[in-house]
Amino acid sequence: MKRISYFLILFFLFFNAASSFADIFYANGDGKKKQIALTFDDGPGINTSEILMILKEKNIKATFFISGFSAVGNKEKIKQIFDSGNELANHTYSHVNFFKYDKDDIEDKMKSEIIKNEKLIYEITGYKTKLLRIPNGFSRPPAKKVAKELGYVLVNWSFGCDWNTKLTQEQMYESYKKNIKAGAIFLMHDKIRSKKLSAFLPQLIDDIKKDGYELVTVSELLDLKQ
Ligand SMILES: [Zn+2]
Repeated sequence: MKRISYFLILFFLFFNAASSFADIFYANGDGKKKQIALTFDDGPGINTSEILMILKEKNIKATFFISGFSAVGNKEKIKQIFDSGNELANHTYSHVNFFKYDKDDIEDKMKSEIIKNEKLIYEITGYKTKLLRIPNGFSRPPAKKVAKELGYVLVNWSFGCDWNTKLTQEQMYESYKKNIKAGAIFLMHDKIRSKKLSAFLPQLIDDIKKDGYELVTVSELLDLKQ
């Protein structure tokens, strides 16, 4: 009996140690299901309404990583995203580039950026965000630590290129197409002025569906509890 409890304790300790690092950071799903998640960053922005229309037409849901400062004078767009059944996620309030942030208070700064954004989204929708993407995909240890402390899951992406102004619309479309695979998380933006993305997005969604993939939110892709 003693022996069994000893093993149980060991198992429990090991499991706890492992789980304190697991389930905090993802750049893709495990690929077991034929699913792909589209994510739109930095908005709400100039292309949010058009993208929402495309998603509605194609009868799919996506995840929007909101940066609160984009919503100044534009708060109803956040409500619109939420009311249309798409997922809201936290991209910090003022989009600080933490790769260039060299002060000692990086964790506190990150926390205040996340909480300010979380509060704004909650005030508008009553929804508390649970997914976090730090600007520029910053995922170094302070980001993971802060995400864990605030109860967030940190989510980057498996592929994205819509911010690359050197690419033509066709090149962008082909690049996304090449990266279609189970568990993919595509990074896109609804605040970029360019109309390239919204021009090829309907076709890309059709291609993804035609290959037998389901388009889902990040929470669904990662099988996170709602
Ligand atoms: Zn961003």
